[in-house]
Amino acid sequence: MSIANVLLTDDEKPFVETMTKRLNKRELDIIPAFSGEACLEALGKDGSIEVVILDVKMPGMDGIETLQKIKKKHPLVEVIMLTGHATIETGIEGMKMGAFDYLMKPCDIEELVAKVMEAAGKKRQHEEKIVEARMKEITNRRAY
Ligand SMILES: [Mg+2]
Repeated sequence: MSIANVLLTDDEKPFVETMTKRLNKRELDIIPAFSGEACLEALGKDGSIEVVILDVKMPGMDGIETLQKIKKKHPLVEVIMLTGHATIETGIEGMKMGAFDYLMKPCDIEELVAKVMEAAGKKRQHEEKIVEARMKEITNRRAY
């Protein structure tokens, strides 16, 4: 069993392929996507995805636009933005729009794994709270 289900989205194929291999070894279950469009398609198909690692600079739909669409359709999915030196500002902008955090490329694998685990933990806690709230609501309905 994997410790977190992750969708890795970046337009640089060699980067995605290398990271997928390296992260799979850490028992993260990595699904690769090479564009914002492919990222959204994968999220629509696979409800088990917990965390999206998202490149900010991509042709077509960029990271910020993709982030907005993810948050609109899948508000509980956590997003970690990947930025370059020149795009840190975009990473910060992403956090204001609901991204969990950002990392600068080339990123340290340990740091990335730690952030992914933190993000997955946050999502699970969030979901538990929602379940608890639903249970409370059901109990209250029975009581009154
Ligand atoms: Mg890119």
